[in-house]
Amino acid sequence: MSQIYQHRARKRFGQNFLHDTGVIDRIIRAIAPREGDRMLEIGPGQGAITQSLVDSGVQLDVIEIDLDLVSILQDRFALAKNFTLHEGDALKFDFSRLNPEPSSLRVVGNLPYNISTPLIFHLLNNAHVVRDMHFMLQKEVVERMAAKPGGGDWGRLSIMVQYHCRVEHLFNVGPGSFSPPPKVDSAIVRLTPHAVLPHQAQDARALDRIVREAFNQRRKTLRNTLKNVLSAEEVEAAGVDGSLRPEQLDMAAFVRLADQLSAQPAAELS
Ligand code: SAM
Repeated sequence: MSQIYQHRARKRFGQNFLHDTGVIDRIIRAIAPREGDRMLEIGPGQGAITQSLVDSGVQLDVIEIDLDLVSILQDRFALAKNFTLHEGDALKFDFSRLNPEPSSLRVVGNLPYNISTPLIFHLLNNAHVVRDMHFMLQKEVVERMAAKPGGGDWGRLSIMVQYHCRVEHLFNVGPGSFSPPPKVDSAIVRLTPHAVLPHQAQDARALDRIVREAFNQRRKTLRNTLKNVLSAEEVEAAGVDGSLRPEQLDMAAFVRLADQLSAQPAAELS
């Protein structure tokens, strides 16, 4: 693609374009687009994934920040009636503009690695309209998302993503599949929002606050890391052993701590 359009990749927009048709096909098979699906692609670039999505007959909206790529995409998909281009920053994009039905929107993207975590948090805030999400991310980020309690990868990202979604690490992609090649390995992840949250906090902001505080100093005991938000007695009242370290707690325990915090009359949640 890059040879055809002569676009010079911009580092500041995290541009690593997929050129490996085997990988592109594998991604499309994982997404399994069906005619009429409502889809949103973030960062379509020169259209490596976009082309197959348009061809499959989905109703596709895309958001691209780079004006040069916007004009390439406008030319390439000028005749496609099922394609709508939004120029701008996906981090600021208001998903309600698309007017999706609840649990309908299928989100995909080979994401710019420099904004992938804030972007996923932005999407989690809109999880009620999302049916599923397929992303190419740094492999290390996918491992953290899919982590289980007890290990070094279990942290804020694992907890906040798994609170909202089922996480599947589908397959890895090496640097040679991109142009220019990134310095790290990549992986495809599928996130499917839970129909019913397995562990629902009374206030999700309290969970966010507890998890941030807990993992600020992951080597310390919970009694210590949480002392700005909960007393040692409150930690025990949530049924949590304060001498444990944050990575030893599972989701249910974090939710109990969050509920303990939101039960405080003057809790500062943000
Ligand atoms: N999807 C293409 C592919 O697979 O070849 C391009 C992937 S490239 C890793 C990331 C794309 O996201 C680039 O096209 C880049 O310009 C775009 N991008 C970067 N930051 C963005 C943002 N904040 N909002 C929307 N698009 C962004």
